[in-house]
Amino acid sequence: MIELNLMRLGVSVLSTAMLLGGCLAPDGAVASSDPVPVSPITVPTLSKPNIIIILTDDQGYADVGFNGSKDIPTPHIDRIANEGVRFDRGYVSFPVCGPSRAGLLTGRYQSRFGYDLNSSEDPTNPRAGLPLSENTIADVLKPEGYTNGILGKWHMGNHPIFHPHERGFDEFFGFTNGGHNYFADRYNDIAVADAKSSGQLYNTKLMLGTEQIETSGYLTDLLSDAAVDFVTRNKDELFFLYLAYNAPHAPMQAPPRYTDRFPDIEDPTRKIYAGMIAAVDDGVGEILDTLKAQGIDDNTLVFFLSDNGGPLKRAKNGSINKPLRGGKGDLFEGGVRVPFAARWPGQIPAGIDYPHVVSALDIMATAAELAGADIDNDKPLDGVNLIPYLNEPAFKTVPHQRLFWRYRENSQDDNSYPRVGMVEGTSKYVKYGRNEMLFNLEGDKGENDNLKDDDKKRHKRLKAAQQEWSDKMMDQQVPIWNTWSSPNTPNKR
Ligand code: CA
Repeated sequence: MIELNLMRLGVSVLSTAMLLGGCLAPDGAVASSDPVPVSPITVPTLSKPNIIIILTDDQGYADVGFNGSKDIPTPHIDRIANEGVRFDRGYVSFPVCGPSRAGLLTGRYQSRFGYDLNSSEDPTNPRAGLPLSENTIADVLKPEGYTNGILGKWHMGNHPIFHPHERGFDEFFGFTNGGHNYFADRYNDIAVADAKSSGQLYNTKLMLGTEQIETSGYLTDLLSDAAVDFVTRNKDELFFLYLAYNAPHAPMQAPPRYTDRFPDIEDPTRKIYAGMIAAVDDGVGEILDTLKAQGIDDNTLVFFLSDNGGPLKRAKNGSINKPLRGGKGDLFEGGVRVPFAARWPGQIPAGIDYPHVVSALDIMATAAELAGADIDNDKPLDGVNLIPYLNEPAFKTVPHQRLFWRYRENSQDDNSYPRVGMVEGTSKYVKYGRNEMLFNLEGDKGENDNLKDDDKKRHKRLKAAQQEWSDKMMDQQVPIWNTWSSPNTPNKR
């Protein structure tokens, strides 16, 4: 299997070298019949690419075709992996929505700014959201000439000071809270500012810019249509599109035209879940087709990932993370290891099955470096530009020696908190409350065999490394948590 992938990579690297050579020649022809081997860490960036992040919400690791799903085919999402790279070990920085997005959008461990928990959704609280001291991807791309759009779920604060327009985005269509009903006839007239609970926010009208507007139709389709429109309108300029589908996050809602595609799925929740993913997959296909039709396919870097693993408990949606252990909320693999792929024709060799650990934090670092953006020295990024690593023959260099997680919880009645974890290669350390675990993911992908007492030296080393990292992070910003919604509010995630 590895040999096959390397062969595919070898062919692709050759193609890349020829493409690079061709681009350097004035007439577009390949300058030499003997392509110069591409040096992995010095692949030239020919021009700034457009960047698209397609984020799904609560999609299970196993629920994409490129990770083996049979009952829910995702042919369009699979194109991203098949024509680019599949990250088998692609991790998010947190196992629930809000902090995961705070990490993704800043490229920094959200624990650096105390974002260790979903914040309150109180629209009147000017402290409950992504701290204004942090820069988003949109903030750093804006000065480099990018037009920035966000479509879908924001979840980085409902108070107007946290609005996407205040965080580097030029355009916004979607909702600022953590989730939403999908059918327009289930919304009502409540203004975001007047909402008194997370549940009410699911019923607010969608926002275009800062205005709540009338819409009709199925939300996932609206977001896909808006993405196609955004790409088409901005095809002649540099753009960054953050397409944050709330699908397949609860509430479970999909029209028959999608659920009817799955007559063999008997579980009613999973059938709707499958329909919700089918809608996303159709949208991804339309976006990829638009890139090609507009002639910007080769100049657009597309990432696809889920913000956390599939939920098996609260907000259960019928997802499957197997063979991984656990789900949303967990620091086991099922909570943080997600469907993850990227595609950039000519710059990411096609058909890579990447073996090393990568992080959602890498997206910001990749985008910033490709755009030539300046990064504030006081706010170092925790990710790396992945493009050189993906062009390295045999992938000898790892992007990350270690990744870390920290999840605190206000609830005092659950002794499985705080939760911390880390990976170092295939070694994994997890601590739930006082319960410590050590796993070797090689041969134990499902984290079944606790090796803590068998490999005391490794356990001690990883535990110390985790503590050392945690000590450098900020204490949890308690004032922004749960000043409005109780920890047990339905849909709070
Ligand atoms: Ca989520």
